[in-house]
Amino acid sequence: MTQTHCPYCALQCAMTLTPLAAGGVEVAPRDFPTNRGGLCQKGWTSAALLTSADRITTPLVRDEQGELAPATWEEAYARIVEGVRAAQEAGGPDAVAVFGGGGLTNEKAYSIGKFARVALGTSRIDYNGRFCMSSAAAAGGRAFGLDRGLPFPLEDLAGADSVMLVGSNLAETMPPSVQHLAAVRERGGLIVIDPRRTATAALTEDGCGMHLQPLPGTDIVVLLGLLHLIVAGGATDDAYLAERVDGWDDVKASSALWWPERVERVAGIPVDELRAAAELFAAAAPAGGGAGAFLLTGRGAEQHAHGTDTVTAAINLALALGLVGRTGSGYGCVTGQGNGQGGREHGQKADQLPGYRRIDDPAARAHVGAVWGIDPDSLPGVGLPAVELLDALGRPGGPRVLFVHGANPAVSGPDAGRVRERLSALDLLVVADFVPSETARLADVVLPVPQWAEEEGTMTSLEGRVLRRRRAVPSPDDVRDELQIWHDLAEMLGSPVAFETDPELVMQELARASAGGVADYGGVSHDRLDGEESIFWPCPDGQHPGTPRLFLDRFATPSGRARMVPVTPRPVDDDLRPDAPIHLVTGRLLQHYQSGAQTRLVPELMRGEPRAFVQLHPVLASRLGVEEGADVRLTSTRGTITAAARLSADIRPDTIFMPFHFAGEQSVNLLTNPATDPISGMPEFKVCAVAVTTA
Ligand code: SF4
Repeated sequence: MTQTHCPYCALQCAMTLTPLAAGGVEVAPRDFPTNRGGLCQKGWTSAALLTSADRITTPLVRDEQGELAPATWEEAYARIVEGVRAAQEAGGPDAVAVFGGGGLTNEKAYSIGKFARVALGTSRIDYNGRFCMSSAAAAGGRAFGLDRGLPFPLEDLAGADSVMLVGSNLAETMPPSVQHLAAVRERGGLIVIDPRRTATAALTEDGCGMHLQPLPGTDIVVLLGLLHLIVAGGATDDAYLAERVDGWDDVKASSALWWPERVERVAGIPVDELRAAAELFAAAAPAGGGAGAFLLTGRGAEQHAHGTDTVTAAINLALALGLVGRTGSGYGCVTGQGNGQGGREHGQKADQLPGYRRIDDPAARAHVGAVWGIDPDSLPGVGLPAVELLDALGRPGGPRVLFVHGANPAVSGPDAGRVRERLSALDLLVVADFVPSETARLADVVLPVPQWAEEEGTMTSLEGRVLRRRRAVPSPDDVRDELQIWHDLAEMLGSPVAFETDPELVMQELARASAGGVADYGGVSHDRLDGEESIFWPCPDGQHPGTPRLFLDRFATPSGRARMVPVTPRPVDDDLRPDAPIHLVTGRLLQHYQSGAQTRLVPELMRGEPRAFVQLHPVLASRLGVEEGADVRLTSTRGTITAAARLSADIRPDTIFMPFHFAGEQSVNLLTNPATDPISGMPEFKVCAVAVTTA
């Protein structure tokens, strides 16, 4: 039996795997602080892909007839090396790009950044985490000097009088986490801000809390309105603000502009509801005499062209109440992808080196250059964030070759039709995956890689808790680990240094590279994790116990004080107009994960949600002449798709919803807006204007 964690989301539920004689493994839940013995349906069925007939088990190379055909590793490598050399001879190092993933282990997230910058010498690396939590990362970095999704253990939620969730649907995305909300619900303290009555919003009913249902794109207005009322009610924690925070006066002044009646006009939240939510939340804060309060943001608040400012408004509210850096209270971002946290710490981002070091910081370059054994001056500079990177593919002066590892941008990218066009314009697309994702189907070379139960390494949960992923069964014979692939290709491309293939040794190198940085893994090792089960970073040395709660004494800014930044609401980028009068929001379903490339291959999950649908309010449906189950056509400036109508009073009558896990004609990202947040590079997935017609 092997003790490991789920392959999917950032809750990283613990499980035990038992190999089966017929192949594959049996999954059983295991007790762990995050999941307390629970698994969701995705976790229970996660073994299905190990033995799936759809699995890729041999390299594939596109042949002269344009078909992907089985090939040897030597043939696949030869095609890659030839393509990389030709592109870089013609266009320089940046003619080759790399797109990584937030599901890769820490060791792989680290090695892919090194592979890009040392073996390929390119600055053109970014990853799908840019689409996930980059706005929260940017806002957290700006306010606190570092970003760790939850700077406290999830278990702390149980002791609070109130938890406010802004754009987070925990009950559907990571159901076992809801256990941590049970006590708060009993106290009537759960507040959910979401345009839909999601499974999480429904948890507020029967006296368990409140659901505020704002117009899409107006979370920032609601948060400013709440701050306005908290200031007006004298509920701010003035001693905390004086002692630990800079910038309060400007933020306080900016909140004065958002009185409740104005919030009601802009966001559609009735004045009485806003007042009740402000009173409930303020009373839960220590300054209000409560046991504690937490404010958590999710993708609903973050995936906007001004997502960083929305998260900043949430952080300002939490700071005004004195919640951050205090045991029993806090602000956090609910990271989504399995290693969404670790994936963003070790150098996959266009502007970062391991340990959250900035790549344009000379001291950071010197430190990492020394660990890697290279001249720091040979390191490339800042690259392009994901949307810009994808849009540059195949254009004059842009990358001609792209490596994709652990991502499916042909479905997950905004304005996905354009992403597919750019992928198709490349001279060489290399995709490493274990399932035939939509991106893999466009590739010239597909490299088969192991699944979670076949690899060793570490992951970092949404709480910043580093834990072990362990091998339970071997991979199929012709599957090759990414660490081996990068080692082999680096050698063939004449890399100045060799690449390590043993995950334990990679972790030792990662620990040295991150040591002294913000995300310090200096004291983390496989050995230690095998003995202690998990360690919260920062953990600077082997004797350090790890840091479950951050900022208790000081923030990670140079002054040690948190930085408040005043923010101003702006209209959504793709706002309503006569030819597109309805807001479209997108989100997740219980049965599926990310682009759905994996979960769409699991029969049990597909029985639950086999295809995309459009959720719309009966009032809107009646106005449009749409009946339950009928096909409706959605059109934005970027495309048109068709899906079946699902009528529900759980959504605002001016808004429709579609899940984003489906591909082809059902891919809602064919409609979404690639406009990006100027600070984080996050695209505006969460809202765009559409026309809805009967198909
Ligand atoms: Fe896996 Fe997340 Fe489900 Fe837990 S909640 S079983 S980690 S998908």
